[in-house]
Amino acid sequence: MQIYNTMSKKKETFEPLVPGEVRMYVCGPTVYNYIHIGNARPMIVFDTVRRYFEYKGMKVNYVSNFTDVDDKIIKEANAQGISSEELAAHFIDECKQDMESLHVRPASTHPLATKEIPEMIELISTLIDKGYAYEKAGTVYFSPRKFTGYGKLSHKNLDDLRAGNRELKVTGEAEKEDPLDFVLWKPEKPGEPSWDSPWGKGRPGWHTECSAMAKKYLGDSIDIHAGGEDLIFPHHENEIAQSEAANGQEFARYWMHNGFLNIDNKKMSKSLGNFFTVRDILAQYDGQVVRFFMLGAQYRNPLNFSKDLMEAAKASWQRIVTARGALEEALRAAGEDSISADEEKLFAETDAIVADFEDSMEDDFNTADAIAAIFELVKFSNVAIKDQHSKSFLEKLAQRMDTLLDVMGLSALVEEGPLSEEIEALIEKRQQARKAKDFSTADKIRDDLLAQGIVLEDTREGVKWHKA
Ligand code: AMP
Ligand code: ZN
Repeated sequence: MQIYNTMSKKKETFEPLVPGEVRMYVCGPTVYNYIHIGNARPMIVFDTVRRYFEYKGMKVNYVSNFTDVDDKIIKEANAQGISSEELAAHFIDECKQDMESLHVRPASTHPLATKEIPEMIELISTLIDKGYAYEKAGTVYFSPRKFTGYGKLSHKNLDDLRAGNRELKVTGEAEKEDPLDFVLWKPEKPGEPSWDSPWGKGRPGWHTECSAMAKKYLGDSIDIHAGGEDLIFPHHENEIAQSEAANGQEFARYWMHNGFLNIDNKKMSKSLGNFFTVRDILAQYDGQVVRFFMLGAQYRNPLNFSKDLMEAAKASWQRIVTARGALEEALRAAGEDSISADEEKLFAETDAIVADFEDSMEDDFNTADAIAAIFELVKFSNVAIKDQHSKSFLEKLAQRMDTLLDVMGLSALVEEGPLSEEIEALIEKRQQARKAKDFSTADKIRDDLLAQGIVLEDTREGVKWHKA
């Protein structure tokens, strides 16, 4: 498997630290509002990466934080007259709802920054002890110039950075020894949440959160660290400096960054009036359409979001849903027969499609090509169901389609009305009622099912059902 590593700017063969296991950390959102449609991209992309590893039989420990203390949260909470904690808890719940709509599975652990303060204090203390950080008037700073290798991820050079940053010292943090120094701990301000620390009451800096949480939940050295490309500098560069300075080990072996989502080819921004939350979009489109749309591009490419493109994605996704529905119909109509030798041969043709699907995913998770392979399977199925086939053949085909779709986090079998198990249970209940000569209950069950589009037929072999 090849993964593009931002660190080396090359595709590299993926070798996990422990064979068969993947430890990955994905920077999560800052929860001061509903998540926006851009935030959904890393969630969907890295959830799909996780699903593919699992499909390959690997065990994935997937950690993604919620940043629940931050300037924007404090500002919004004050504006609403509630506590930061209340505001963050509310938007974490809302974010989890959006994730569910987008079929993004919950992480193995979703740590909250505010619940990990002791770990952050410990990390900062280590950095001070080792001479990488210093305290001035209640603020703790990290000195990038003391860490050899600063700039290795963003491919920036310390002198250039310093030239670009000369202004910083003038604009506020006057105590800094160097304009490049960044904050690990900031002192309390009135009206802000704060915690006790050896440097007085205060709160951690954003970069510190992720270094401390990755260490606690995944260890000093992890396989994959991921997020949007805007996080490469300074966030991830600073995480590397903190973690490697403190732990003396390589922090993450592979750095994956998704490209940005733009709206009508423009950067999404509130001032341009083209800012959409996931909730806004879910009012118009099913979460699966959003997911299908996002996976239609390789994750490192920029992705343009527009009404036309969403309509095209919806129509395209519908083709898969229709094909899967037709396959289900064929399955329902088929008898209880087993697969023939000819059918085995025909089914083996789909092995090449699965191989294409896997090759695409193994090439730095090219979901666009993987979806093209799924369309090949759809075409195969549409042709195959024109002929009479055994139930076992159709079952195998359906299973194959569902498995590939599941790697994409998609489920094309739309259950309209009750599930077949529920229908079977009601039929059984009706039979019992008839046996007990309770015809009114029996008739009521039949009528209720009919109202849901399910027709019962009493045949010599027993009760059969089909959709009206
Ligand atoms: P934030 O809440 O700003 O820290 O963002 C959470 C995640 O969303 C990070 O991984 C960001 O890189 C990512 N992100 C933010 N905006 C976009 C966008 N327009 N397109 C893709 N990813 C984004
Ligand atoms: Zn982070």
